Order: sequence, then structure tokens, then C-alpha cells
Amino acid sequence: HATEDDSEEVIVVPGLPPVYRGHREFHLRQGVMKAAQLTAECEPDAEKAFFVADLSYVYKQHLRWKKNLPEIEPFYAVKCNPDPYVLRLLAALGAGFDCASNGEINLVLPLVDPSRVIFANPCKATSFIRQSARAGVDMMTFDNTDELHKIARVHPGAKLIIRILTDDSKSLCRLGLKFGAPMVTVPALLGKARELNLDVIGVSFHVGSGSYDSNAFSDAVMRARMVFDMGKDAGYTFTLLDVGGGFEDPTFEASASVLKDAIEQYFPARDNLRIIAEPGRYYVAQAFSLAANVIARRAPPTAEDVDPDSENPSVMYYINDGVYGAFNCILFDHQSPQPYILSLDGSFHVPSTVPLRPSSVWGPTCDSIDCVCSVTQLPSTLQVGDWLAFDNMGAYTICAASQFNGFQVSKVTYTAGGEFGREVREALRTFAS
Ligand code: PLP
Repeated sequence: HATEDDSEEVIVVPGLPPVYRGHREFHLRQGVMKAAQLTAECEPDAEKAFFVADLSYVYKQHLRWKKNLPEIEPFYAVKCNPDPYVLRLLAALGAGFDCASNGEINLVLPLVDPSRVIFANPCKATSFIRQSARAGVDMMTFDNTDELHKIARVHPGAKLIIRILTDDSKSLCRLGLKFGAPMVTVPALLGKARELNLDVIGVSFHVGSGSYDSNAFSDAVMRARMVFDMGKDAGYTFTLLDVGGGFEDPTFEASASVLKDAIEQYFPARDNLRIIAEPGRYYVAQAFSLAANVIARRAPPTAEDVDPDSENPSVMYYINDGVYGAFNCILFDHQSPQPYILSLDGSFHVPSTVPLRPSSVWGPTCDSIDCVCSVTQLPSTLQVGDWLAFDNMGAYTICAASQFNGFQVSKVTYTAGGEFGREVREALRTFAS
């Protein structure tokens, strides 16, 4: 759909890269063409890998959220992708933020009032709790008595939320291995909070990141209901339910429906109940694509050396981002990113007649763990200089990328084009010069 003004720079927030118009595909191709030009000019790092972030997609996800879960306020989980434009866009759209550290709190406080921040890490350093008191961030989670003692000492006015353990066995990242008070411990924890004169305002849970069983939400809401009743016994009247993260793009509608039904069933009278959530990957996973250059190849010396019937990779391709960079999601987030051809032999047109062959894709470092794809089908003509792209690269990627072996973290090109381009541009203007 590329048009003349697709490359037009439309928003500049001081200190940040520009945001362009145009579609994601346009900017992926644009990046490849720019790299070709820089290569011709012998520029250093001319062919570097890059992301394209489609901010319209984030906007679309917000509309989808409001349509399906109108009663639940999203507090975006900053840890998932603390991208400055994602944060600005969501702030402008009225979202709150779930922060896990002082660093994350410092990122969002210039954008929103502290009342729109929850410090959703049940095990915090005392200095972080003190700092959040100074910053006016009062909402925070806990799941143990030591945390209550720390909070009583340095932030006695905090609005506490007890994080409970729920069944996360059907999720990619089981957060319950580390966090969440088992139900049997809740009465004692609430008793201790009372004794320390602390204000507990509600309950939170997390069904596990990358949850593939929507029913987990139903069970978790039922447990939360029980904890609301335990709160009554301890002398509290809870007013906040935090249903956590774990929303997946493909199953979002199903999860939302289960969640709504469970809230209706277990909290039928909820005039005085505020419900929030901490979605992370739902908002950003599919908003970011990565383009990576084939920088090297190891292939059999002649075609005769390839066994045409073997399913094992006969060619190894090396690209300029890997598991120490954006593809850390393979190790930390249990993902299996799949490449597709962005450009082949200088062309964006890939003839369907090109035969495919089993290949493997590797990152640029000198470590053999740096494998992006152990086996995938790629065109037999793919060679050094061609480009691969990977979609679904927005969640838990850039934020955990390192510079191991001296490879820089891939940079982001931003676009506010497509269906909701105008709305995104208007929202971002709040923060533009
Ligand atoms: N809230 C908390 C406390 C988390 O630890 C996480 C992820 O680790 C999230 C929210 C975001 O989860 P997701 O990206 O699955 O929505």
C-alpha cells in the first residue's frame, strides 16, 4: 500500500526517534533499501538489523480491550516492553502502568499521575519501597510477612494488594514458582497486616504469562472471591481486584469472556469494586517486527554434497541478531520465532517456484547456544546479503537484549500509519514538541 507520503516524518518527541506515516511492510522494505545504500557507501554497520514498531497495532489492541473488557482498567506491564512510544501512547489513551522496579516507575512518572501506577512486585528492595513512597506511588503488592514489615517501616501509607497463588500450570511462564501467597497463608498474612496497621485494599493474581487455558481466569477469580471474604474476617473491606496479565492475542476474546462470566458469578454486586489488569504481551507482541540481514552462510561446497531427501538442515545461515539480543525470547520466554523472506537477491518479490530446503538460522555471536531456528524451510537461493523478517517480536525481546560480543541492540523504526494512524498521531501529539 506504499504511497509517496509513507516516509513522511509526522511526529518528533524531543530526545526520541521520529515516528513516520506508512505501513509496517513499507518501513521494513525502506530499511532494507536504506541498508543497500549505506552498504554502497561503505558505511560501518550498514546492514544492521532493525525493528519496525507499528503503533497503530497497539492502538487497535486498546480498542479491542475496551470493547471486550470495558469494566477492567488496563495497567500495562512495563517489563514486557518499556518502549518510549508504547508508554506514551498508552498513557495518552488513559492506561495505567504495572511497574516492577524504581527504574520502571521513573520511566512512567513523567507521563502519568502516581495514582495510575501499581508497584506489582511482591518482593521489593526496601530502598525501592521508600522511593515509591517519595514518588507518591501507593499501590503495591505483597505475598509475605517480611514485605509487610518493610512496607510498615518505610511506606506505612501504602495501599496494599495481596498477590495470591493461582493455577498457572497451563502457561508458558509459570510465575507461581516465585510469587503468590498460597490460600492457606492468606488469613495469617492479613492478620499481620492488620497488626502492623497497614491498609490492604484488594487482591491480585497472575494466571501465568502466555496462558493457553482461558479457564485459569475463572478459577483465579473464585480464589480472589474467597480472599475478599477472608479480608472481611480480618476487618478489611476490599475495593480492588487485580486480574493480572496472561492475556494472549489469539485467545483474548475467549479469556475476556471467561473472565467477565467469572466476575459476574463471584462479584455480582460490585458498585464499590475497582477492577484492574496488568496486560503486557497482549498489547505489544504483534506490534513489532524484526528485519535481520544474512551476514554469513555455511553451505556444502557443491550441490552434489547435499542429500536432497534429508530433513536435516544442509545450510546454516547467520543473521545479525540472535539469542543474546532480540531472540532472548527463545530462552527466557519459550518462543519459537519463524523467519520469512523479506528480500531475496535484491528483490522483494520471492518467486513461488524457488525450491525450499531445510536450513538452520543462527545469531551473530561466537556462542553455539545462539541458535534462532534449528530447522526451517528457506529458499535454496538465499544467500549473504538477503534479508529475513520475523513477526510477533514485541514482547519480552528488546527489554532483555544484551550487547554480548559487542553486538548492539537492534534499533526501532516507528510508524503510526495504517488504519488508526490519525488517532495514534493525535494521541502522541500530547507529548510532542
Ligand atoms: N504482571 C506481573 C506481576 C508480571 O510478572 C507479568 C509478567 O511477568 C505481567 C503482569 C505481564 O504478563 P503478560 O505479559 O503475560 O500479560
